[in-house]
Amino acid sequence: MAHSIGLPYSGGLARGWGHRAPYLLSGAILGAIALGVLPMTPTLLTMLTALMLLVFVIVTWLFMRQHDRRLCESCAASMPLNAAEHAARFTRRFRLAHAGSNPRVMVPYLIVLIGSNFLTGTVGRIGWALVQSTMIYLILAHCSHRKLQPWCPQCSGGGSGNRDSVDEPDSPRGDRLLI
Ligand SMILES: [Zn+2]
Ligand SMILES: [Zn+2]
Repeated sequence: MAHSIGLPYSGGLARGWGHRAPYLLSGAILGAIALGVLPMTPTLLTMLTALMLLVFVIVTWLFMRQHDRRLCESCAASMPLNAAEHAARFTRRFRLAHAGSNPRVMVPYLIVLIGSNFLTGTVGRIGWALVQSTMIYLILAHCSHRKLQPWCPQCSGGGSGNRDSVDEPDSPRGDRLLI
């Protein structure tokens, strides 16, 4: 009964949940944007929906972290044969994934993300929705980077050598994907 923060990660459901987390999170963000943009007066139902969305995001995010720490058969099976070619096209996503672990980038980003909540009016709400939707690209960048990490120039140290002194993104180091 006394389960702490960690989530049980043995079941197939948890594994599947973690594997699909980037898409589930993207869907939840879109749902949150829809809730924020639609002109609704807050009722018990909308507040409950927002709360459930928040819980869903937190649980999904925890499963994603668990998933990212281990080898995932589904990820390995979906690895493209020409992974190196894929990776060459994703250099911008890789840079973004690395920036995502850099507090000097993430703190201002989070300030904009939270600050956009105070925008009002139609234009303000559209601006808010656009700012929130950047999270989806960030999640997908993280996902692509994790999958194609062996081909990431910054991880393999073949880049400019300017690695900052910041941690690498949360990604399996010892057990870099199969292949
Ligand atoms: Zn997976
Ligand atoms: Zn990398």
